[in-house]
Amino acid sequence: MSNDTQNETQNETRAETIGKDSVVHIDYTLRNDAGEVIDKSAEGKPLPYLHGHGQIVPGLEKALEGKAVGESFSVTIPAAEGYGERSEEAIFEIPRDRLPEGLEPQVGMELAAQSPDGQVLRFRLIEIGEDTVKADANHPLAGQDLHFDITVAKIRPATSEEIAHGHAH
Ligand code: ZN
Repeated sequence: MSNDTQNETQNETRAETIGKDSVVHIDYTLRNDAGEVIDKSAEGKPLPYLHGHGQIVPGLEKALEGKAVGESFSVTIPAAEGYGERSEEAIFEIPRDRLPEGLEPQVGMELAAQSPDGQVLRFRLIEIGEDTVKADANHPLAGQDLHFDITVAKIRPATSEEIAHGHAH
């Protein structure tokens, strides 16, 4: 086999499997430890993402590396490689008079606050007291192992614009 032929074969292999800067479409189902479905891609609408840019949780990105179109697999991702461990520091109290006027706080309510430097903090209310409410800014899936069923629906190379933006178009 000449060198030229070898190079061609390698390029072809690279295009058909997932690597850095692949735009990948995946059908996925996400279950928690109890086996309940907590998220899934819509029927016939696989989720597109740009591989190698931290668009999906680190453990899933690692598991997808090198996979080919049509491949199906199941993977369990520990919380640390998913949405992270739960942090007690992300739980805090807010005086009720600091809540938006007219808001009737309820457990489970999701709110967002903007800090002076423009950072948006999302949190949900977990306890309603007389003078304060308790809020939790952990990701709802923090501290949970993630069980994914994945099918790779499509792989294509990203455009230079997509690479510059860090996401799939
Ligand atoms: Zn863009």
